[in-house]
Amino acid sequence: MKVQHLYAFNTPYVFREDVPVPRPTHAYDLLIQVDAASYCHTDHVLASGEMATVEMPPFPLVGCHEYSGTVVGLPPNSAQTEFKIGDRVGVSSRAYHPCGTCVECIEENTPDSDPKGYSVLCPHVKTNGIGMDGGWREYALVDARQVTPIPSGLTQVEVAPLMCAGITIYSAIKRTELEPGQRIGIVGCGGGLGHLGLQYATAMGLKVYGVDNADTALALARGLRNISGATIIDARTQTAPEAIAPISKEDNIAFPGQFGLDAVIILPESQKAFQYGIDMLKNHGKCIVVSFPRQGLHVSSQDLIFRDIKFMGSLSGTNKQLREMTQFSAKHGIKPEIKTFPLEKLNELVDTYNAGHGGKLVIDQHHKSS
Ligand SMILES: [Zn+2]
Ligand SMILES: [Zn+2]
Repeated sequence: MKVQHLYAFNTPYVFREDVPVPRPTHAYDLLIQVDAASYCHTDHVLASGEMATVEMPPFPLVGCHEYSGTVVGLPPNSAQTEFKIGDRVGVSSRAYHPCGTCVECIEENTPDSDPKGYSVLCPHVKTNGIGMDGGWREYALVDARQVTPIPSGLTQVEVAPLMCAGITIYSAIKRTELEPGQRIGIVGCGGGLGHLGLQYATAMGLKVYGVDNADTALALARGLRNISGATIIDARTQTAPEAIAPISKEDNIAFPGQFGLDAVIILPESQKAFQYGIDMLKNHGKCIVVSFPRQGLHVSSQDLIFRDIKFMGSLSGTNKQLREMTQFSAKHGIKPEIKTFPLEKLNELVDTYNAGHGGKLVIDQHHKSS
């Protein structure tokens, strides 16, 4: 089969056509024909050798941890799986063969938790597309418990970017626990996660404030059709206090710290973006951090203690949330902005990403060259 291999950090991907198709042997293995496989910022970080995790990629590695496909092979005992040949599935980044017995796997303490015996946070898993082969190949083995059925109304190409970008921003918004009508900020709103976040937050009935600082990102955010009522802010021309000044009038509260956003989500790997988001919050507001700069982020005592800002990180969602997010996307017509490439042109896709192209770049196995 055709694959794209990464042989070492900071080298181009190498296209090969002589790799054997894997076979399902484990009780939860599904063999899928990959239809679409999307590029995530983490792929860039991984290929640069900059991943801040203990999991080293096994070279040669097939990257990509957000993809979709069609089931073509079932586990040895197929009675165990809800899936059948021909089903369309989305594949998310985590939890291939979780151990089923660790603390993470056996705890089920919130309605959003993974089912007992399964956890995306199991420390014994290999991560799809990072610690084991992922989606830039014709066929892939996936864990039936890590995938979501694709509802009608969404194509495989549309679903692939939702499998990391979509679930990550969706679960980060859920972490704010905001009610409809409350105010949320998304810093980095014109990127892959951000432009989906604007759509999810709007569909959830929140008052949305998007912030970015680049022309292409701002244009992408402002061009979204389904974010009516959202305020898009150019951080180069407006300070955070200026951006939230209209809220003082709307709520008729003049005292600083007592008006502002209820929660903010930080997507860029930048101290400046982090502080901009915090400065938009009212006192006691929540700051959800999704980015993970290697050097970490600095929190001021003023914000932490005297303003009682609550900080929380967010990695990815559970499998229950993955399915919920996919259904929610279909129901509300939430789709990523996409540019597609054939598998052979993965390096061209990476060049396009590095040039600052907005939205999501996706390998489409059925790509018709124009
Ligand atoms: Zn486990
Ligand atoms: Zn990702």
